Amino acid sequence: MIANSQTVLLSGPDVGRLEQEYVLAALQSGWIAPVGPDLDRFEREIADRAGVPHAVGVTSGTAALHLALLGLGIGPGDVVVVPTLTFVATANVVVYTGATPVFADCDPVTGNLDPDLLAALLAELSAEGAPVRAVLTVDLYGSCADYERILPLCAGYGIPVIEDAAEALGATHRGRAAGSFGRAAALSFNGNKIITSSGGGMLLTADGELAGRARHLAGQARLPAEHYEHAEVGYNYRLSNLLAALGRAQLCRLDEMIERRRAVHDAYAKVFAHLDGVSLLGDADPAANCWLTCVVVDPDRAGWSAAELAAHLAERNVETRPLFKPMHLQPLFAGARAALSGAAERLFRTGLALPSGSALTPEQVRRVLDEITEFLDGHR
Ligand SMILES: *Cc1c(COP(=O)(O)O)cnc(C)c1O
Repeated sequence: MIANSQTVLLSGPDVGRLEQEYVLAALQSGWIAPVGPDLDRFEREIADRAGVPHAVGVTSGTAALHLALLGLGIGPGDVVVVPTLTFVATANVVVYTGATPVFADCDPVTGNLDPDLLAALLAELSAEGAPVRAVLTVDLYGSCADYERILPLCAGYGIPVIEDAAEALGATHRGRAAGSFGRAAALSFNGNKIITSSGGGMLLTADGELAGRARHLAGQARLPAEHYEHAEVGYNYRLSNLLAALGRAQLCRLDEMIERRRAVHDAYAKVFAHLDGVSLLGDADPAANCWLTCVVVDPDRAGWSAAELAAHLAERNVETRPLFKPMHLQPLFAGARAALSGAAERLFRTGLALPSGSALTPEQVRRVLDEITEFLDGHR
């Protein structure tokens, strides 16, 4: 499918007048260069929203994850446990530090890290004396991982948790905000995420020392001296003030945008209700931000496959996407250690992400629902 102006997008950016006002005001303020008052405010506002004391605005969610690992002193020889069902950035950052990712499979219903499997894996790694320095959790498609079980489990081994909440801003888990779990968390404001700053991310933590360390490393590790003084390798990771202004406008609209995504999710739930072998991923979580709605189809029971639905929609100019291809199946991580149940691979082969963006018009949503209904009618 080649996208054009008629294409219904999976999760396009949702920007309007408020965003224009904020960016224009930032431009007119003269704070064009890296840091500035919008960045300071954006950090404060995101920290407040997540209920976390410290936030460091950076160029991407990937940079935030990288800094979280560096802030914990993770490096060559270390092991970090990563869910296999995720976007590649979660695993790449481990490799950036020189540490080794060990992959763990997911819960078949939620798609998030399987706590039972994690327990068995940590016991095994501990018995081997493996230097496990962190467990990276992912709040997949905007639904929080099972922190009730994962946090105490990791605490029992003295292993810090880092939360990849790139997709989960605005979601909660038992009343606590995504981004507030673990020693540090990462948010993403990439173009397809729940809010966008065009590109950007944020590191969240209650640990002031870790936040300070991340801020230092994100600014090329420049020491406070008139001349350019450096004692270690740093990174050019700070978010620009202009992009922070865009992010601030988006944050004002976060709740409204989540409501729109949830309404789209609920409409899909109705269309797929009572169909044998068909479910929505993580549908039981009422506190998800509904970033992407994913349908999971057992073709033997349903009589049709997710791939067939994808082809039907592509012909009608509607964008869909398979779920993330698990990391242990990627050529990049061929040969990596992985604790597997088969759940992630099954979701990858039977799942489909549907148009879910808050920028979808009511007409577009109706069009997609009609196309799905037509497809289902043809497969009864
Ligand atoms: C988007 C995403 C990232 C990376 O965020 P960027 O801002 O694109 O670098 C990391 N992890 C997950 C799960 C993501 O979805």
